[in-house]
Amino acid sequence: MQIVNNISEIQEWCREKKLEGKKIGLVPTMGYLHEGHLSLVREARRDCDIVVVSIFVNPAQFGAGEDYEVYPRNMERDCALLEREMVDLVFAPEVKEMYPAGYQTYVEVFGQISNKMCGASRPGHFRGVCTVVSKLFNICQPDIAYFGQKDAQQVMVLEKMVRELNFPLKIVRVPIVREEDGLAMSSRNVYLDQQQRQEALVLYKALKSAEENITQGERDTRKIKDSIEKMIKGCPQADVDYIEISDAADLADIDEIRGQVLIALAVRFGNTRLIDNLIVEV
Ligand code: AMP
Repeated sequence: MQIVNNISEIQEWCREKKLEGKKIGLVPTMGYLHEGHLSLVREARRDCDIVVVSIFVNPAQFGAGEDYEVYPRNMERDCALLEREMVDLVFAPEVKEMYPAGYQTYVEVFGQISNKMCGASRPGHFRGVCTVVSKLFNICQPDIAYFGQKDAQQVMVLEKMVRELNFPLKIVRVPIVREEDGLAMSSRNVYLDQQQRQEALVLYKALKSAEENITQGERDTRKIKDSIEKMIKGCPQADVDYIEISDAADLADIDEIRGQVLIALAVRFGNTRLIDNLIVEV
């Protein structure tokens, strides 16, 4: 497994692989890898001749006062995990390699798909995500790029960007990987203390209970949101950022459950902001 920090080196390497007719799969990550990331890598390994994993904590997608500085990092452990998954190349650039002094080019998707939910509570976040992912696409020229359903809004924004900017690649969505007790895996889970870790189980419980309500015939999104909120507010440390029920195709607001809907939420436990979601179809 090669580890490359330099853009021109990986760009040249990927270009050669493409000329040899190899299919390249790209898995963009911010590192501190867990089984969720590894499920993306395994899917790429199944589909592609060459698997590239990027590890880059992208400052452009963090707002002022967010956790960029303290975001967990462990390059050595990450590389050991990726080696075991038979990854071909890890791209781990420095910030100044991706954003040299004077950098001023950004990519932004407008509209409801990026304005609500995480777009509303983290202004500039998706602009940072779209910019770094566009750069990674141009650097690695993947045939397929893999993203987790864990970040449901992110993958929708990126699918729209790929469609509208005609990036010649396919995006594959990979299902959410959870801990045995239901908590969605996240690099940020390490921030949680014991009580917060216990309370955080309410996220998946509330989503499953909403699904159950819908199965039993409830169609009023307001009522469903209220009951999710009530469950979460039963946890002393939980502070709701948003609870949204939207059309799963375009994130349009809906009053009534119909077709495929995305139930998504973001909740703070102390300083740690966790997100989770579920797609329900009626
Ligand atoms: P991150 O390192 O948090 O930027 O995540 C890198 C990629 O892994 C993103 O596409 C995430 O959606 C995906 N991912 C993170 N956590 C999970 C999870 N629990 N299950 C599936 N995919 C995940």
